[in-house]
Amino acid sequence: MDFRLSAEEARFQHEVHDWLVANLPAGWGTPAYRMAEGPEEKIRFARWWQRRLYEGGWAGLSWPKEYGGRGATPLEQLLFAEEYVRVGAPAMIDIGVGPALVGPTLIHHGTERQKERFLRGILTGEEVWCQGFSEPNAGSDLAACRTRADLRGDVFHVTGQKIWTSYARLADWCILVVRTDSQAPKHHGLTFLLVDMKSPGITIRALVEMTGVAWFNEVFFDDVQVPRANMIGELNQGWTIAITTLAHERSGSAPHARLQGEMRDVLALARRLLLTTDRRWRQRLAQSFVETEILRLLAYKQVSDIMRTGQPGPEGSCLKLVWSETDQRMKEVAIELEGPYAALARGSSRAIDAGCWQHEYLWSRAATIYAGTSEVQRNIIAQRVLGLPRE
Ligand SMILES: Cc1cc2nc3c(=O)[nH]c(=O)nc-3n(C[C@H](O)[C@H](O)[C@H](O)COP(=O)(O)OP(=O)(O)OC[C@H]3O[C@@H](n4cnc5c(N)ncnc54)[C@H](O)[C@@H]3O)c2cc1C
Repeated sequence: MDFRLSAEEARFQHEVHDWLVANLPAGWGTPAYRMAEGPEEKIRFARWWQRRLYEGGWAGLSWPKEYGGRGATPLEQLLFAEEYVRVGAPAMIDIGVGPALVGPTLIHHGTERQKERFLRGILTGEEVWCQGFSEPNAGSDLAACRTRADLRGDVFHVTGQKIWTSYARLADWCILVVRTDSQAPKHHGLTFLLVDMKSPGITIRALVEMTGVAWFNEVFFDDVQVPRANMIGELNQGWTIAITTLAHERSGSAPHARLQGEMRDVLALARRLLLTTDRRWRQRLAQSFVETEILRLLAYKQVSDIMRTGQPGPEGSCLKLVWSETDQRMKEVAIELEGPYAALARGSSRAIDAGCWQHEYLWSRAATIYAGTSEVQRNIIAQRVLGLPRE
């Protein structure tokens, strides 16, 4: 693998750096900058930032130019993510699943009319999206979905329940997987819909996570009417569309960038606590550092593979598995560094770094669940990467 950047890639890297430095809000990245706390405040900020990215020509980095994106190569996307972390832009700049999942799915499978209606709102941040896939008995096994949609004339009538729907309370639209044929084999009776979250018949109940924040929601559908024009692809062919969405969810190409930024912060924490001269801590910190470097190399390998083959393959599961487990181990190190102060969380005036590591530690538990659990990733690696038999 050649790690050197071409002159054009280096130019791109500088351009990203200069734009970010010029456009991040004043005080950004300094301890004095007050982070948005609740979901409402975060989404308000994210809409503003998405608009700024759009105006600067950085929204929809991977989207083709004809749909308003930047048409960046996978390597340029990786460089963008690295610069983003290098200038200290925190991970909270995140506007739901629109730019990363819904846009690419629509570009691939939507009609021209659907693209025209929805893509711009995603890029500008005017419309926030959520993902209605998981159900109480259909998580890893998405095809077990039971939320039903009956097509009467040109209108689907949707009844059922989704769960773990991040952003649902704040979202304008939802990508929804529903069952439209209960007699067909389970992968064949699904349809993919775009649902207006203001539709009559939708009830949303917040679920509080162990971090104390309520990102998650349960979403109930009681005879919710969805026009047939909001169906993506063909009736009963929703599985293929959902697979496109999931492939984008699992192939995020630069998870190492965020973890490298956090590793930098963990090292700074260890220095402040005067633990970097302690031999036991030096070993732990070095181990974490090496793991983030391995992750970086894996991310580069994935980008090289995608640039060679043109699409993300099952190898993306290796990256998901490694980053999510590296993330958890690193947060454990951060918490243990704090010693007895580890018991003090947000809200305590004596909590180290305003309790951010306690929050990160609890939040990192989710990393091995969302976008496919570690067990599911190991199954994919065993069967589709290593070619091992199922039993
Ligand atoms: C932070 C977060 C955000 C999320 N946001 C959304 C969202 O916005 N929209 C949405 O639709 N969903 C969302 N989810 C849900 C997520 O997609 C599911 O939690 C995930 O797919 C796992 O499904 P489940 O929770 O039903 O667990 P299950 O599928 O019931 O799994 C339970 C356990 O069994 C194991 N298991 C399951 N199948 C196998 C197998 N074949 N082989 C070996 N082990 C297996 C799993 O690894 C797990 O340990 C989110 C989850 C989290 C944690």
